[in-house]
Amino acid sequence: MGPRVRIAPSPTGDPHVGTAYVALFNLAFARKHGGEMVLRIEDTDRSRFSPGSERAIFEALTWLGLEWDEGPDRGGAFGPYRQSERLARYRAYADRLLEAGKAYRCFCTRERLDALRKEQMARKARLGYDGHCRNLDPAEVERLVAESRPHVVRLKVPRTGRTVFHDGLRGEIGIDNVEIDDQVLLKSDGYPTYHLANVVDDHEMAITHVIRGEEWITSTPKHVLLYEAFGWQLPEFYHLGLLRNPDRSKLSKRKNPVSIDYYRAMGYLPGTFLNYLGTLGFSMPDGRERFTLQEMIDAFDWSRVNVGGPVFDRSKLDAWNGDDLRAMSAEAFEELVFDEVLGPGRWRRILELVQPRIARLDEIVPYAAMFFGELVDYEKVAGAFRLKKRSLAESAAILSAYLEAIESDPEARTFEPEPLEAFSRRFCTEHGWKPRELFSLLRVAVAGRTAAPPLFDTMVVCGKDRCRARLKDAIRFVRAMAAAESESG
Ligand code: GLU
Repeated sequence: MGPRVRIAPSPTGDPHVGTAYVALFNLAFARKHGGEMVLRIEDTDRSRFSPGSERAIFEALTWLGLEWDEGPDRGGAFGPYRQSERLARYRAYADRLLEAGKAYRCFCTRERLDALRKEQMARKARLGYDGHCRNLDPAEVERLVAESRPHVVRLKVPRTGRTVFHDGLRGEIGIDNVEIDDQVLLKSDGYPTYHLANVVDDHEMAITHVIRGEEWITSTPKHVLLYEAFGWQLPEFYHLGLLRNPDRSKLSKRKNPVSIDYYRAMGYLPGTFLNYLGTLGFSMPDGRERFTLQEMIDAFDWSRVNVGGPVFDRSKLDAWNGDDLRAMSAEAFEELVFDEVLGPGRWRRILELVQPRIARLDEIVPYAAMFFGELVDYEKVAGAFRLKKRSLAESAAILSAYLEAIESDPEARTFEPEPLEAFSRRFCTEHGWKPRELFSLLRVAVAGRTAAPPLFDTMVVCGKDRCRARLKDAIRFVRAMAAAESESG
C-alpha cells in the first residue's frame, strides 16, 4: 500500500495560495509512490466558518489540477470527511483519555484565566494554564459535572521530560514538556479543538505522512503527546517552508493577494501558477525551472525540497504567464478567453449592464473596460474622492473598514447584488455614514468613474477579487492625496 496523505483546510475564507502549495507537495509525494490524498474539511471553529468557502476550495484546487482521492465531495472508506460530521467520535476519544487519567476536566472560568494571564504577564512569566484543575478531587469533579458546570477537557501533559519528533525535512525537533501547556481538547461547547480533531482524524483515516506548513511545527509536540496518550503509531511529519512576501514576512493579504481566486480572475494559467508554486519549494534534478505537474511527480524526492522560506515574487510569475500565453495556438487562446475572461455567463451580464447605457455599438468595449483589468486610473477622477462633509482621511478610513468588512461579513461574502447592498446599508448605519456618501466613494474606487451602472451590479460583475484589489489601491491613492494636502497645507 502506498502512503496516505491529507490536506486539511479550514473553510474560513477564500481558498488560500498556501493551501494549493501544501496540496501540491502532498499530491506529488503521494502520486510518486502510488498513494492516496485525502481532502478533509476542518470546520470545527464555528466562529470562523464561512459558508461557500468549502465549495470555493474544491473549485480552486480543481482549477489547478490538484485532484484528491477521498473527500466530502467524493466519499471514501474513511469518511465522513467533514469534522463537523464527526463530533461524536471526538467526544468518545476525549472520554477515553479521561477514563485513563490522561486528560482532565477543567472548570476554570474565563475571569480566572484572564486574571491568571494578567498576573503572568506582570511577572513576565511563561503564559499558560497553571494546572489548577489538574488534581481536583474526583468526587468534586462528579459534583460539578452533575451541576452541568461548563468545562473544557485538557490533556495532562507530563511535567518532566522532553517531547521529540523527527521532521523529514528538518531533522529532530524537541521541546521540554514544561514548555507545553495542558492543551484543551474539548471546548465547553463540546466541540473539539484543532489538536484533538486533527490527531483523531489522521489516525482514523490511516494517514501515514503529515505534510503541512511550517506554522504547525509548534503544534506537533502536542500532537505527539496525544498519539502517545492514545497509544497510537505516529505518522511521519514534514513541515514545508512558509510562503513569504518579498520582504520575507509571512505571505499575507496586506502585501500580496493570497486568494487562488484572485489569480484565476486575473488570468493566470493554472499550469503556470502550479509550476511557479512548485519551484518555490522544489528543484528539478537538472535545474530546469519550467515543468508540469506530472514531471514534478516523476522527479519528486524529499531531498529536492527546500524549506528556506520561499519568496512569492509575482514578477517572475507574470513573465512565465506571458511566455505561456504566447506559446498557445490561436484557437486555444481564443477558447481560453471565452472560458475565463468572458464566461461562464459573464459577457452576458456585462452586456445587460452596457445595453441601456450606450447609443452606438462601438461604445461597448470602452464602456465595458471597467469590468476588465486589475486596477483603474484615479488621476482624472481624483476630485470625486472629495466629499463635502468628510476629510480625505475619513474617506480612506471608511473604505478601509469596508474592505475589511466585506471579507468577513456573511452577507457580503456571497457577493451578489442584493445581499451586498443590504450589507452596505447596514455598514453605513453602523458607521454613521449616509449611503449616498459611501456609495459614491465606492463607485469611483471600483469603476474608476463617477457614472457607472448600478453600484452593486458593477461590483458583482467586476468580481470580488478585482473589487478588493481596486479598493486597496483606492485607499492608497486617497491616503496619498490626504498626505500631500497636509504637507502643503
Ligand atoms: N486545519 C488546518 C489548516 O487550516 C490543518 C493543519 C494541518 O495540516 O494539520 O491548515
